Amino acid sequence: MVAVADARAFVLGLCRSLPACEVPLEQAVGCVLAEPVAAAHPVPPFDNSAMDGYALRAADTAGAPVRLRVVGTIFAGDDGAIPVGVGEAARIMTGAPMPPGADAVCVVERTSTEGNGAVVVIEDEVVPRQNVRSAGSDLPEGAEAFGPGTVLGPAHVGVLASLGLVRVVVRARPRVAVFVTGDELVPAEVALTGGKIHDSNRPALVAQLRADGFEVVDLGTVSDEEDALVDAFGRARAYDAVVTSGGVSMGERDYVKLVLDKLAQEMRAMQVDIRPARPFAFGTLTESGTPVFALPGNPVSALVSYELFVRPALRKMAGFEVLDRPCVTAVAPAGFRRRPDGKLHLVRVVVREESPGVLTTWPSGGQDSHVLRAMAEANGLALVADGEGVPPGGTVPVLLLDAGALDAGASLRPW
Ligand code: AMP
Ligand code: MG
Repeated sequence: MVAVADARAFVLGLCRSLPACEVPLEQAVGCVLAEPVAAAHPVPPFDNSAMDGYALRAADTAGAPVRLRVVGTIFAGDDGAIPVGVGEAARIMTGAPMPPGADAVCVVERTSTEGNGAVVVIEDEVVPRQNVRSAGSDLPEGAEAFGPGTVLGPAHVGVLASLGLVRVVVRARPRVAVFVTGDELVPAEVALTGGKIHDSNRPALVAQLRADGFEVVDLGTVSDEEDALVDAFGRARAYDAVVTSGGVSMGERDYVKLVLDKLAQEMRAMQVDIRPARPFAFGTLTESGTPVFALPGNPVSALVSYELFVRPALRKMAGFEVLDRPCVTAVAPAGFRRRPDGKLHLVRVVVREESPGVLTTWPSGGQDSHVLRAMAEANGLALVADGEGVPPGGTVPVLLLDAGALDAGASLRPW
Protein backbone atom coordinates (compact mmCIF):
# COMPACT_ATOMS: atom_id res chain seq x y z
CA MET A 1 0.00 0.00 0.00
CA VAL A 2 1.11 3.55 -0.76
CA ALA A 3 0.62 6.30 1.82
CA VAL A 4 -1.89 8.88 0.59
CA ALA A 5 0.69 11.63 1.23
CA ASP A 6 3.23 9.84 -0.99
CA ALA A 7 0.67 9.27 -3.73
CA ARG A 8 -0.23 12.96 -3.66
CA ALA A 9 3.42 14.03 -3.69
CA PHE A 10 4.04 11.80 -6.72
CA VAL A 11 1.08 13.28 -8.59
CA LEU A 12 1.70 16.91 -7.64
CA GLY A 13 5.39 16.57 -8.49
CA LEU A 14 4.50 15.68 -12.08
CA CYS A 15 1.87 18.40 -12.63
CA ARG A 16 3.20 21.85 -13.52
CA SER A 17 1.38 25.13 -13.83
CA LEU A 18 0.12 25.92 -17.31
CA PRO A 19 1.42 28.89 -19.34
CA ALA A 20 -0.09 32.33 -19.01
CA CYS A 21 -2.71 33.40 -21.52
CA GLU A 22 -4.80 36.48 -22.17
CA VAL A 23 -8.56 36.12 -21.73
CA PRO A 24 -11.49 38.53 -22.02
CA LEU A 25 -12.42 39.92 -18.63
CA GLU A 26 -15.82 38.25 -18.66
CA GLN A 27 -14.12 34.83 -18.83
CA ALA A 28 -11.59 35.56 -16.09
CA VAL A 29 -13.61 34.86 -12.97
CA GLY A 30 -12.19 31.83 -11.16
CA CYS A 31 -8.82 32.18 -12.92
CA VAL A 32 -5.48 32.99 -11.28
CA LEU A 33 -3.75 36.21 -12.28
CA ALA A 34 -0.39 35.53 -13.97
CA GLU A 35 0.99 39.09 -13.94
CA PRO A 36 0.60 42.08 -11.64
CA VAL A 37 -2.02 44.62 -12.68
CA ALA A 38 -1.24 48.29 -12.07
CA ALA A 39 -3.74 51.15 -12.12
CA ALA A 40 -3.29 53.06 -15.41
CA HIS A 41 -5.40 55.88 -13.95
CA PRO A 42 -6.57 56.71 -10.44
CA VAL A 43 -9.83 55.21 -9.15
CA PRO A 44 -11.97 57.19 -8.73
CA PRO A 45 -10.53 59.22 -11.61
CA PHE A 46 -11.57 62.61 -10.10
CA ASP A 47 -12.77 64.10 -6.80
CA ASN A 48 -16.52 63.50 -6.63
CA SER A 49 -19.44 63.82 -4.30
CA ALA A 50 -20.33 60.89 -2.00
CA MET A 51 -23.84 62.29 -1.42
CA ASP A 52 -26.65 64.20 -3.03
CA GLY A 53 -26.34 67.72 -1.60
CA TYR A 54 -24.56 71.04 -2.09
CA ALA A 55 -20.91 71.50 -3.01
CA LEU A 56 -19.50 74.47 -1.14
CA ARG A 57 -16.50 75.94 0.64
CA ALA A 58 -16.34 74.44 4.14
CA ALA A 59 -15.10 77.77 5.54
CA ASP A 60 -18.40 79.39 4.45
CA THR A 61 -20.37 77.13 6.86
CA ALA A 62 -18.75 78.55 10.02
CA GLY A 63 -21.51 79.59 12.42
CA ALA A 64 -24.20 77.58 10.51
CA PRO A 65 -27.00 77.92 9.68
CA VAL A 66 -25.74 80.03 6.76
CA ARG A 67 -27.26 81.15 3.44
CA LEU A 68 -25.36 80.52 0.19
CA ARG A 69 -26.20 81.58 -3.38
CA VAL A 70 -26.88 78.54 -5.64
CA VAL A 71 -24.84 78.84 -8.88
CA GLY A 72 -26.03 75.73 -10.72
CA THR A 73 -26.57 71.96 -10.65
CA ILE A 74 -23.99 69.25 -11.38
CA PHE A 75 -25.15 65.75 -12.31
CA ALA A 76 -23.14 62.52 -12.43
CA GLY A 77 -21.50 62.48 -15.87
CA ASP A 78 -21.22 66.30 -16.13
CA ASP A 79 -17.74 67.79 -16.41
CA GLY A 80 -18.37 69.81 -13.23
CA ALA A 81 -17.08 73.11 -14.61
CA ILE A 82 -19.28 75.38 -12.49
CA PRO A 83 -16.87 77.38 -10.27
CA VAL A 84 -18.05 77.88 -6.70
CA GLY A 85 -16.90 81.18 -5.16
CA VAL A 86 -17.05 82.55 -1.64
CA GLY A 87 -20.64 82.56 -0.38
CA GLU A 88 -21.78 80.20 -3.14
CA ALA A 89 -22.89 76.58 -3.48
CA ALA A 90 -23.72 74.21 -6.36
CA ARG A 91 -26.44 71.55 -6.16
CA ILE A 92 -24.55 68.26 -6.70
CA MET A 93 -25.53 64.58 -7.16
CA THR A 94 -23.70 61.47 -5.94
CA GLY A 95 -20.78 60.68 -8.26
CA ALA A 96 -20.73 64.13 -9.90
CA PRO A 97 -17.31 65.82 -10.11
CA MET A 98 -16.49 68.40 -7.44
CA PRO A 99 -16.64 71.86 -9.00
CA PRO A 100 -13.59 74.15 -8.86
CA GLY A 101 -13.51 76.16 -5.64
CA ALA A 102 -15.67 73.77 -3.58
CA ASP A 103 -13.98 71.56 -0.98
CA ALA A 104 -16.92 69.82 0.77
CA VAL A 105 -20.51 68.69 0.35
CA CYS A 106 -23.42 69.26 2.71
CA VAL A 107 -26.03 66.47 2.42
CA VAL A 108 -29.35 67.62 1.01
CA GLU A 109 -31.19 66.39 4.12
CA ARG A 110 -29.43 69.13 6.16
CA THR A 111 -30.44 71.94 3.81
CA SER A 112 -33.51 73.89 2.73
CA THR A 113 -33.99 76.34 -0.13
CA GLU A 114 -35.41 79.81 -0.47
CA GLY A 115 -36.37 81.91 -3.48
CA ASN A 116 -37.24 78.99 -5.77
CA GLY A 117 -33.85 77.35 -5.14
CA ALA A 118 -31.76 80.46 -5.70
CA VAL A 119 -30.53 80.34 -2.11
CA VAL A 120 -29.69 77.31 0.04
CA VAL A 121 -29.75 77.30 3.82
CA ILE A 122 -26.97 75.04 5.20
CA GLU A 123 -28.02 73.79 8.64
CA ASP A 124 -24.69 72.34 9.85
CA GLU A 125 -21.06 73.28 9.72
CA VAL A 126 -19.10 70.95 7.41
CA VAL A 127 -15.36 70.32 7.44
CA PRO A 128 -13.06 70.37 4.39
CA ARG A 129 -13.33 67.10 2.31
CA GLN A 130 -16.55 66.08 4.08
CA ASN A 131 -18.60 63.86 1.72
CA VAL A 132 -15.90 64.13 -0.96
CA ARG A 133 -14.40 60.95 -2.46
CA SER A 134 -10.87 61.86 -3.42
CA ALA A 135 -9.35 60.91 -6.77
CA GLY A 136 -7.29 57.75 -6.28
CA SER A 137 -8.77 56.96 -2.84
CA ASP A 138 -9.61 53.42 -4.05
CA LEU A 139 -6.46 53.03 -6.19
CA PRO A 140 -3.87 55.74 -6.84
CA GLU A 141 -2.43 55.92 -10.36
CA GLY A 142 0.41 53.41 -10.82
CA ALA A 143 -0.49 51.38 -7.71
CA GLU A 144 -0.57 47.59 -7.96
CA ALA A 145 -4.21 46.60 -7.90
CA PHE A 146 -3.52 42.84 -7.68
CA GLY A 147 -0.42 40.69 -7.72
CA PRO A 148 0.23 37.41 -9.54
CA GLY A 149 -1.46 34.49 -7.82
CA THR A 150 -4.63 36.45 -7.09
CA VAL A 151 -7.73 34.33 -7.60
CA LEU A 152 -10.15 36.50 -9.54
CA GLY A 153 -13.62 36.74 -8.05
CA PRO A 154 -16.51 38.93 -9.20
CA ALA A 155 -15.25 41.98 -7.25
CA HIS A 156 -11.77 41.61 -8.80
CA VAL A 157 -13.41 41.60 -12.22
CA GLY A 158 -15.19 44.80 -11.20
CA VAL A 159 -11.92 46.45 -10.13
CA LEU A 160 -10.22 45.47 -13.39
CA ALA A 161 -13.16 46.88 -15.34
CA SER A 162 -12.92 50.12 -13.32
CA LEU A 163 -9.32 50.34 -14.56
CA GLY A 164 -10.56 50.12 -18.14
CA LEU A 165 -9.21 46.63 -18.80
CA VAL A 166 -11.02 44.41 -21.29
CA ARG A 167 -8.49 41.55 -21.25
CA VAL A 168 -6.36 40.11 -18.48
CA VAL A 169 -3.37 37.73 -18.32
CA VAL A 170 -4.15 34.61 -16.29
CA ARG A 171 -2.94 31.02 -15.96
CA ALA A 172 -4.73 28.93 -18.55
CA ARG A 173 -7.65 26.90 -17.25
CA PRO A 174 -6.81 23.19 -17.62
CA ARG A 175 -8.77 21.52 -20.43
CA VAL A 176 -9.54 18.07 -19.14
CA ALA A 177 -10.51 15.08 -21.26
CA VAL A 178 -12.81 12.64 -19.49
CA PHE A 179 -13.72 9.10 -20.44
CA VAL A 180 -15.06 6.19 -18.46
CA THR A 181 -14.47 2.49 -19.05
CA GLY A 182 -16.76 -0.48 -18.59
CA ASP A 183 -18.71 -2.82 -20.85
CA GLU A 184 -21.60 -2.66 -18.38
CA LEU A 185 -22.14 1.08 -18.91
CA VAL A 186 -24.91 2.66 -20.95
CA PRO A 187 -25.76 6.38 -20.97
CA ALA A 188 -28.83 7.64 -19.13
CA GLU A 189 -30.84 7.92 -22.35
CA VAL A 190 -30.46 4.21 -23.17
CA ALA A 191 -32.87 1.78 -21.48
CA LEU A 192 -31.26 -0.85 -19.25
CA THR A 193 -31.03 -4.44 -20.46
CA GLY A 194 -29.57 -7.45 -18.64
CA GLY A 195 -26.32 -6.74 -16.80
CA LYS A 196 -26.12 -3.09 -17.82
CA ILE A 197 -26.11 -0.03 -15.55
CA HIS A 198 -26.36 3.65 -16.30
CA ASP A 199 -23.03 5.43 -16.35
CA SER A 200 -22.96 7.81 -13.40
CA ASN A 201 -19.23 8.53 -13.15
CA ARG A 202 -18.93 10.48 -16.37
CA PRO A 203 -21.79 12.90 -15.64
CA ALA A 204 -20.61 13.28 -12.04
CA LEU A 205 -16.95 13.86 -12.93
CA VAL A 206 -17.84 16.24 -15.75
CA ALA A 207 -20.08 18.20 -13.39
CA GLN A 208 -17.45 18.27 -10.63
CA LEU A 209 -14.71 19.41 -13.00
CA ARG A 210 -16.93 22.20 -14.29
CA ALA A 211 -17.95 23.18 -10.77
CA ASP A 212 -14.26 23.49 -9.94
CA GLY A 213 -13.73 25.84 -12.89
CA PHE A 214 -11.98 23.50 -15.32
CA GLU A 215 -12.85 23.03 -18.98
CA VAL A 216 -14.10 19.58 -19.89
CA VAL A 217 -13.95 17.60 -23.10
CA ASP A 218 -16.23 14.56 -22.83
CA LEU A 219 -14.73 11.59 -24.70
CA GLY A 220 -17.57 9.26 -23.79
CA THR A 221 -17.59 5.63 -22.73
CA VAL A 222 -14.85 3.21 -23.74
CA SER A 223 -15.20 -0.56 -23.73
CA ASP A 224 -12.93 -2.85 -21.73
CA GLU A 225 -10.61 -3.62 -24.65
CA GLU A 226 -6.96 -2.70 -25.05
CA ASP A 227 -7.34 -1.27 -28.55
CA ALA A 228 -10.26 0.91 -27.55
CA LEU A 229 -8.30 2.26 -24.59
CA VAL A 230 -5.20 2.95 -26.67
CA ASP A 231 -7.39 4.85 -29.13
CA ALA A 232 -9.08 6.84 -26.33
CA PHE A 233 -5.75 7.85 -24.74
CA GLY A 234 -4.56 8.84 -28.21
CA ARG A 235 -7.49 11.25 -28.54
CA ALA A 236 -7.02 12.50 -24.97
CA ARG A 237 -3.40 13.45 -25.60
CA ALA A 238 -4.45 16.78 -27.13
CA TYR A 239 -5.69 18.12 -23.77
CA ASP A 240 -3.97 19.34 -20.59
CA ALA A 241 -5.03 16.35 -18.47
CA VAL A 242 -7.03 13.13 -18.71
CA VAL A 243 -9.40 11.71 -16.13
CA THR A 244 -10.73 8.17 -16.50
CA SER A 245 -12.72 5.85 -14.28
CA GLY A 246 -12.75 2.08 -13.96
CA GLY A 247 -10.36 -0.65 -14.98
CA VAL A 248 -7.67 -0.04 -12.36
CA SER A 249 -8.57 -2.89 -9.98
CA MET A 250 -7.74 -6.59 -10.04
CA GLY A 251 -10.46 -7.70 -12.51
CA GLU A 252 -9.59 -9.72 -15.59
CA ARG A 253 -10.67 -6.93 -17.90
CA ASP A 254 -9.11 -4.10 -15.91
CA TYR A 255 -6.90 -3.02 -18.81
CA VAL A 256 -6.42 0.66 -17.98
CA LYS A 257 -3.27 -0.03 -15.94
CA LEU A 258 -1.87 -2.31 -18.65
CA VAL A 259 -2.46 0.21 -21.38
CA LEU A 260 -1.03 3.06 -19.33
CA ASP A 261 2.06 0.97 -18.67
CA LYS A 262 2.65 1.06 -22.42
CA LEU A 263 1.57 4.64 -23.16
CA ALA A 264 2.81 6.52 -20.11
CA GLN A 265 6.12 7.35 -18.57
CA GLU A 266 6.44 7.84 -14.80
CA MET A 267 3.42 5.57 -14.46
CA ARG A 268 2.41 4.15 -11.08
CA ALA A 269 -0.56 1.90 -10.34
CA MET A 270 -1.14 2.20 -6.62
CA GLN A 271 -3.11 0.77 -3.77
CA VAL A 272 -3.49 3.87 -1.63
CA ASP A 273 -3.93 3.49 2.14
CA ILE A 274 -7.42 5.00 2.12
CA ARG A 275 -10.99 3.79 2.15
CA PRO A 276 -12.79 4.26 -0.16
CA ALA A 277 -10.75 4.81 -3.35
CA ARG A 278 -7.87 2.40 -2.78
CA PRO A 279 -6.92 1.69 -6.43
CA PHE A 280 -5.50 4.64 -8.34
CA ALA A 281 -3.08 4.97 -11.23
CA PHE A 282 -1.24 8.03 -12.41
CA GLY A 283 1.19 8.64 -15.22
CA THR A 284 2.16 11.12 -17.89
CA LEU A 285 1.63 10.19 -21.53
CA THR A 286 4.83 9.82 -23.53
CA GLU A 287 5.72 12.74 -25.82
CA SER A 288 2.83 15.02 -24.77
CA GLY A 289 3.53 14.64 -21.02
CA THR A 290 -0.23 14.84 -20.42
CA PRO A 291 -1.06 13.79 -16.85
CA VAL A 292 -3.49 10.87 -16.65
CA PHE A 293 -5.58 10.27 -13.53
CA ALA A 294 -7.01 6.76 -13.66
CA LEU A 295 -9.68 6.67 -10.95
CA PRO A 296 -11.46 3.60 -9.61
CA GLY A 297 -14.85 2.70 -11.06
CA ASN A 298 -16.93 2.60 -7.91
CA PRO A 299 -18.86 5.86 -8.03
CA VAL A 300 -18.00 7.08 -4.52
CA SER A 301 -14.38 6.01 -4.93
CA ALA A 302 -14.12 7.94 -8.19
CA LEU A 303 -15.30 11.17 -6.56
CA VAL A 304 -13.19 10.71 -3.41
CA SER A 305 -10.13 9.95 -5.53
CA TYR A 306 -10.93 13.07 -7.55
CA GLU A 307 -10.92 15.15 -4.34
CA LEU A 308 -7.60 13.80 -3.10
CA PHE A 309 -5.61 13.70 -6.34
CA VAL A 310 -7.29 15.31 -9.36
CA ARG A 311 -8.64 18.53 -7.92
CA PRO A 312 -5.42 19.60 -6.15
CA ALA A 313 -3.30 18.70 -9.18
CA LEU A 314 -5.52 20.57 -11.62
CA ARG A 315 -5.57 23.55 -9.27
CA LYS A 316 -1.78 23.49 -9.24
CA MET A 317 -1.84 23.49 -13.05
CA ALA A 318 -4.27 26.41 -12.98
CA GLY A 319 -1.86 28.38 -10.77
CA PHE A 320 -3.70 28.19 -7.44
CA GLU A 321 -1.57 28.43 -4.31
CA VAL A 322 -4.29 26.84 -2.14
CA LEU A 323 -4.81 23.35 -3.55
CA ASP A 324 -7.08 21.65 -1.04
CA ARG A 325 -10.51 22.13 0.39
CA PRO A 326 -10.72 23.81 3.79
CA CYS A 327 -10.38 21.42 6.73
CA VAL A 328 -12.35 22.11 9.92
CA THR A 329 -12.62 20.36 13.27
CA ALA A 330 -16.10 19.09 14.12
CA VAL A 331 -17.66 17.35 17.11
CA ALA A 332 -19.06 13.88 16.36
CA PRO A 333 -21.92 13.39 18.86
CA ALA A 334 -22.30 9.72 17.88
CA GLY A 335 -18.58 9.18 17.17
CA PHE A 336 -17.17 7.20 14.24
CA ARG A 337 -16.56 3.55 15.04
CA ARG A 338 -14.02 1.61 12.98
CA ARG A 339 -11.40 -1.13 13.24
CA PRO A 340 -7.64 -0.77 12.57
CA ASP A 341 -6.88 -1.73 8.95
CA GLY A 342 -3.89 0.44 8.09
CA LYS A 343 -6.09 2.90 6.18
CA LEU A 344 -7.40 6.41 6.55
CA HIS A 345 -11.18 6.30 6.31
CA LEU A 346 -12.89 9.15 4.47
CA VAL A 347 -16.42 9.13 5.79
CA ARG A 348 -19.14 10.96 3.86
CA VAL A 349 -20.64 13.33 6.40
CA VAL A 350 -22.98 16.23 6.96
CA VAL A 351 -21.39 19.14 8.86
CA ARG A 352 -23.57 21.71 10.52
CA GLU A 353 -22.82 24.79 12.60
CA GLU A 354 -24.97 23.93 15.58
CA SER A 355 -24.16 26.98 17.72
CA PRO A 356 -21.74 29.87 17.16
CA GLY A 357 -18.36 28.38 16.26
CA VAL A 358 -19.38 24.80 17.08
CA LEU A 359 -19.53 22.37 14.16
CA THR A 360 -21.13 18.96 14.53
CA THR A 361 -20.92 16.08 12.08
CA TRP A 362 -22.46 12.68 11.40
CA PRO A 363 -22.47 10.20 8.48
CA SER A 364 -24.69 11.23 5.58
CA GLY A 365 -25.72 7.64 4.88
CA GLY A 366 -24.33 4.22 3.96
CA GLN A 367 -20.57 4.12 3.51
CA ASP A 368 -20.16 1.43 0.86
CA SER A 369 -18.37 2.71 -2.22
CA HIS A 370 -21.38 2.19 -4.50
CA VAL A 371 -23.72 4.31 -2.32
CA LEU A 372 -23.50 7.49 -4.33
CA ARG A 373 -26.58 8.98 -2.70
CA ALA A 374 -24.73 9.42 0.61
CA MET A 375 -22.00 11.25 -1.29
CA ALA A 376 -24.63 13.52 -2.79
CA GLU A 377 -26.06 14.23 0.67
CA ALA A 378 -22.62 14.92 2.17
CA ASN A 379 -20.98 18.31 2.44
CA GLY A 380 -17.78 16.93 3.92
CA LEU A 381 -15.40 14.00 4.23
CA ALA A 382 -14.49 13.17 7.82
CA LEU A 383 -10.88 12.00 8.07
CA VAL A 384 -11.04 9.11 10.52
CA ALA A 385 -7.46 8.00 11.15
CA ASP A 386 -6.43 4.35 11.43
CA GLY A 387 -7.33 2.86 14.80
CA GLU A 388 -10.51 2.41 16.81
CA GLY A 389 -12.21 5.52 15.51
CA VAL A 390 -13.67 8.56 17.25
CA PRO A 391 -15.59 8.09 20.54
CA PRO A 392 -19.04 9.71 20.90
CA GLY A 393 -18.53 13.43 21.56
CA GLY A 394 -14.97 13.33 20.19
CA THR A 395 -13.66 15.60 17.47
CA VAL A 396 -12.67 14.76 13.92
CA PRO A 397 -11.10 16.75 11.06
CA VAL A 398 -13.48 17.22 8.14
CA LEU A 399 -12.65 18.31 4.61
CA LEU A 400 -15.40 20.70 3.59
CA LEU A 401 -16.51 19.61 0.13
CA ASP A 402 -18.92 22.48 -0.18
CA ALA A 403 -18.29 25.30 2.26
CA GLY A 404 -21.26 27.09 0.73
CA ALA A 405 -23.53 24.29 1.90
CA LEU A 406 -22.31 24.46 5.50
CA ASP A 407 -25.62 24.67 7.25
CA ALA A 408 -25.80 27.24 10.02
CA GLY A 409 -28.47 27.44 12.68
CA ALA A 410 -30.91 30.31 12.13
CA SER A 411 -29.78 31.94 15.38
CA LEU A 412 -26.37 32.65 13.81
CA ARG A 413 -27.75 35.02 11.20
CA PRO A 414 -28.47 38.68 11.95
CA TRP A 415 -31.69 38.70 9.89
P1 AMP B 1 -14.10 -1.21 -11.94
O1 AMP B 1 -13.21 -0.25 -11.18
O2 AMP B 1 -14.06 -0.98 -13.40
O3 AMP B 1 -13.81 -2.61 -11.55
O4 AMP B 1 -15.59 -0.88 -11.46
C1 AMP B 1 -15.94 -1.04 -10.10
C2 AMP B 1 -17.44 -0.92 -9.91
O5 AMP B 1 -17.84 0.37 -10.31
C3 AMP B 1 -18.25 -1.87 -10.74
O6 AMP B 1 -19.37 -2.26 -9.98
C4 AMP B 1 -18.68 -1.04 -11.93
O7 AMP B 1 -19.86 -1.49 -12.52
C5 AMP B 1 -18.87 0.30 -11.29
N1 AMP B 1 -18.65 1.36 -12.27
C6 AMP B 1 -17.56 1.49 -13.06
N2 AMP B 1 -17.65 2.55 -13.86
C7 AMP B 1 -18.86 3.12 -13.57
C8 AMP B 1 -19.55 4.27 -14.08
N3 AMP B 1 -19.00 5.01 -15.05
N4 AMP B 1 -20.75 4.56 -13.57
C9 AMP B 1 -21.29 3.78 -12.60
N5 AMP B 1 -20.68 2.71 -12.08
C10 AMP B 1 -19.49 2.37 -12.55
MG1 MG C 1 -14.71 -1.92 -15.04
